[in-house]
Amino acid sequence: APTIVWFRDDLRVGDHPALAAAAERGAPVVCVFVLDEESPGIRPLGGAARWWLHGSLEALRADLEALGTTLVLRRGAAGRVIRSLVSETGADAVFWNRRYGGPEREVDTELKSALGDDGLEVKSFAGNLLFEPWTIRTGQGTPYSVFTPFWRACLAAPEARHPLAVPDGLDAHVPDAASDDLDSWHLLPTRPDWAAGLRETWTPGSEGAHDRLETFLDERLGDYDGHRDRPAIDATSRLSPHLRWGEISPFEVWNAVRERRSTGGADGRRGEATGEATSRARFLAELGWREFAWHVLFHAPDLATSNWRAEFDAFPWPRLHPTALRAWEEGRTGVPIVDAGMRELWRTGSMHNRVRMVTASFLTKNLLIDWRRGEQWFWDTLVDADAAANPFNWQWVAGSGADAAPYFRVFNPLLQAKKFDPDGAYVHRWVPEVDTEEYPEPIVDLGESREAALAGYQTVKSAI
Ligand code: FAD
Repeated sequence: APTIVWFRDDLRVGDHPALAAAAERGAPVVCVFVLDEESPGIRPLGGAARWWLHGSLEALRADLEALGTTLVLRRGAAGRVIRSLVSETGADAVFWNRRYGGPEREVDTELKSALGDDGLEVKSFAGNLLFEPWTIRTGQGTPYSVFTPFWRACLAAPEARHPLAVPDGLDAHVPDAASDDLDSWHLLPTRPDWAAGLRETWTPGSEGAHDRLETFLDERLGDYDGHRDRPAIDATSRLSPHLRWGEISPFEVWNAVRERRSTGGADGRRGEATGEATSRARFLAELGWREFAWHVLFHAPDLATSNWRAEFDAFPWPRLHPTALRAWEEGRTGVPIVDAGMRELWRTGSMHNRVRMVTASFLTKNLLIDWRRGEQWFWDTLVDADAAANPFNWQWVAGSGADAAPYFRVFNPLLQAKKFDPDGAYVHRWVPEVDTEEYPEPIVDLGESREAALAGYQTVKSAI
């Protein structure tokens, strides 16, 4: 009888433990993806993520077809959909790689027990995080709330395994299971078509992911530490949306970076320079932040809606100023680095990490707008919108999160621009009118608004 492999945030055929285990069983493999907009608590995808998903599913289908099978697309509450596919195909096993969000885990646990009761073999695998959240604990058995000791504990744990190979080929006798037409899901924008910049910037799918990784290793890893904070320089990996959708696994990235060590510098003669070692460690630690965000979410499933530090519930957010929010979203605040970042986001579905921090700080600490409003905008517009990394980082900037920047550290966007975009190349790329009369004055006084934010923080402090 066939094995069903349920694809979720792991849209790849290489290093896919559930697919590899299904192939090993020898029986036909039915691969399915479910667009679940019905199960309780599952956060609806944002617009940019929907755009990405369309391309990613097309790429996955092509990769599966090369292995002799196809991708079945279904829509609905996932538990119900999978059970119906089981009875249609006569499958006797269902395999998947684990998810770590609260509502997703509920769906999976319930389904696992229902299918188990029906006598099916149900197996879940570790594929999307380097370290399972329940394996990294403090000496007291509690989860870590600070990154540095968390990452030290990860590095002391058994090293991340090597990636699994793509299965050689799957049993071609796939039972006939009807699939939705991908176009009928309307994941791509039509009127208006705002995705031109996304198409120019990104190639969803595993091939695009591996190309990005290779380019990064060949051309940028060596200078990563020195250049990663400079938004005008293409210095980072740009792997985040590929990791978000699991088109490449963190094990593949981890091992590729570790293995580069032996190849030495670009000239092929010298051993590894210190700068490269620092860059490699720094990059691996960024993967560590991804792990940390997911571990925090695993223990605090409502991270996108609730302050991780409850005392921040006392923060007196002023009444929302819709015009200010809109100016921020559209990149019309009159603060050049903020406007550059917000326009980059709208056009490309992404924003440089340093500028994400500056724009988030400006929203929460100068416009005094609740971090949840900004998180939602990023959720809708980022191609890498991630259920853990997005709220985690917003709360990190706002001061309410795990290992957060202290609240009173308010970024001065003008000084940030001076330091990280010294010749203004990034700002000029996105805000060409910056030196003309056309460009508006800042919509808030940076000093006064900073003082108001700090006064709000006093209320939080007295709530402790
Ligand atoms: P690189 O510098 O090449 O880093 C490699 C990988 O490490 C990234 O692809 C990413 O998977 C991971 N990573 C790096 N920094 C972080 C971080 N701070 N937190 C978690 N993982 C990290 N990242 C997302 O993937 N999705 C989000 O929705 C997201 N929202 C953010 C919101 C705010 C307000 C801020 C300040 C940061 C956010 N980040 C998010 C983190 C970071 O900005 C992006 O991961 C990074 O810019 C992606 O570019 P890159 O792939 O070139 O990163």
